[in-house]
Amino acid sequence: MEGKKQTHQFKTEVQQLMNIIINSLYSHKEIFLRELVSNASDALDKLRFKSQTDSHIMGTDVDMKIKITRDKKKNTLEISDNGIGMTYDEVVENIGTIAKSGTAGFLDAVGAAKNPGAVTPELIGQFGVGFYSAFIVAKKVTLTTRAAGSEKGCRWESAGDGSYTIEEFDKKTRGTTITLQLKKADKDDQDFTDEWTIRSIIKRHSDFVAYPIVMDVEKTEPVLDAEGKPENDKTTKVIREETLNSMKAIWTKDKKDVSEEEHSEFYQHISHDWNPPLANIHLKLEGTTEYSAILYIPSKAPFDLFSHDQKHGIQLYSKRVFIMENCKELMPQYLAFVKGVVDAPDLNLNVSREILQQDALVRNIKKNLVKKVLELLASMEQEKYETFYKEFAYIFKAGVSQDFENKEKIADLLRYKTTKSDGKWVSLKDYVARMSPDQKDIYYITGENLTSLANSPHLEALKEKDIEVLLMTDPVDEWAIRDLHEFEKKTFKSAEKGDLDLDKKDDKKKEEYSTLFDFFKANLAEKVKDVKLSTHLKNSVACLSGGDYDMSAYMEKILKASGQEVPPSKRVLELNMDHPLLVKIKKIFEKDKEADALKDYSTFLYDMAVVSEGGKLDDPSRFNKMIGNLTDGAIAQ
Ligand code: ADP
Repeated sequence: MEGKKQTHQFKTEVQQLMNIIINSLYSHKEIFLRELVSNASDALDKLRFKSQTDSHIMGTDVDMKIKITRDKKKNTLEISDNGIGMTYDEVVENIGTIAKSGTAGFLDAVGAAKNPGAVTPELIGQFGVGFYSAFIVAKKVTLTTRAAGSEKGCRWESAGDGSYTIEEFDKKTRGTTITLQLKKADKDDQDFTDEWTIRSIIKRHSDFVAYPIVMDVEKTEPVLDAEGKPENDKTTKVIREETLNSMKAIWTKDKKDVSEEEHSEFYQHISHDWNPPLANIHLKLEGTTEYSAILYIPSKAPFDLFSHDQKHGIQLYSKRVFIMENCKELMPQYLAFVKGVVDAPDLNLNVSREILQQDALVRNIKKNLVKKVLELLASMEQEKYETFYKEFAYIFKAGVSQDFENKEKIADLLRYKTTKSDGKWVSLKDYVARMSPDQKDIYYITGENLTSLANSPHLEALKEKDIEVLLMTDPVDEWAIRDLHEFEKKTFKSAEKGDLDLDKKDDKKKEEYSTLFDFFKANLAEKVKDVKLSTHLKNSVACLSGGDYDMSAYMEKILKASGQEVPPSKRVLELNMDHPLLVKIKKIFEKDKEADALKDYSTFLYDMAVVSEGGKLDDPSRFNKMIGNLTDGAIAQ
């Protein structure tokens, strides 16, 4: 076969694939450069690997690099490497003749033969587009190559129109050069012979590639005199070879070789945060699921963490080449604040989000990353953990509802201030450990701020019994507790809903008050659904509570504030039968069931309950008048 120039036809599938790539990726043109650089980097990897067993293979050409050469006049772009290269047979085999395994099946499945234009970038994402992507921007592609250890080179050329030529070629240096005769650019197209276009594409897609990607650039420099000092203000234009990529892919290093400073620098680079990270995880996995990852927990929440378009912090790479940012397929919503990089060499560069979602490898990685993050949080010393918790708890706690599999682990990481914790955070484990043997449930109360919660009348009876109550001030707590339902087999019980069951029921007293309460109930029918003796109160006269399955007052407030329709729900007016005010009202009632004052008192008791939970009165002047009446001794008759 070797010898003079030969013309071959592309395999039908190859030509079809090529047409699809060109058709479907015309709005992502720049990815051709990422693909060719990635191929060059693979070729350098292969050479380096081979040189470990074959010390002569490098020869004198040891400076491994990828070079990009632009020619504005000729409208060409060249990508060359001094990697492993290809023999004549390898070129025939790799480029143009044999389509990758699965190509035919893929083309059939997407109906490509009939309608190549219907193939979207998402579909093509199942497929490595690789070398053929050159034809997105080039009207002619010339590849010259010489395999390491071989004397002869070869030259391959095609206009992407169904055929290619191949011939022997005297290439002076080892490796592969791909020359693109660029299509004439439309006026909005990127100019791939422009220095800054190339710089920014390399920075975006290939920054961490392990080999220098160099390019000649024109620089203005001072003219130097014989002693090497700048001569007056004279300048001259010179060509310098510059490295465009940083190459600093610290996730590929061994864990022990990465210093704190390097972590900080890298974290700041990917997160745009000024602060150092709070903690990091560095993983390198080999075997069936091969990937490496570095994850960071930031020390401060960004101010837009709660906004809807908040970006996920994970960047996805394959063999150091950037694939996508905000990779939410790798980190659940409740850990969206985790920043970092995952490098999975088995993913193809053009993979789409749709495909990632279904990919078993990706699901596996995600599962493991979540496990590692939860382990890291669980192992943090208290002070560090509390720093994390203060910044991110309001997002993290949603994990209880979002991540069924890890619900228990997340529950272990919850912290609350309590009526007995003196402003300190308490874990559910600690709470349960100090429950008295006859306390059945875990008590909690939700509301806007700690002070009003701590002073809530609903807690009076619990305090009297010396029972600790968790104080919850995050909207998300409502959902978290509902979905958690119990911890270490102890049910969560709201201190403001239902009966507390702390004391034995005093049925006699209940009886005594029942007619008075019926009277109140009739009077307040518009405001409350029931009036009953309180199991919550000790000092206050009245409070409002919900049924066991009702929405809490705080939840109702949150939902209303967020503009949601909340079905009107009436609460229960609870009254304290030991309170002197109630005892006196009862006396009036017994004397004269029709007494005018009674109506006012029923409204007054309701208002007292509203005030005691920091609510708003519908008629403050009425309330004031009643207070006046009371101090005037009106009730003391
Ligand atoms: P992929 O890179 O996904 O295998 P490509 O179509 O990009 O698919 O390339 C096909 C093959 O051609 C590669 O697997 C490699 O063997 C060979 N090849 C491509 N570019 C180079 C290069 N710069 N140097 C050496 N071999 C290359």
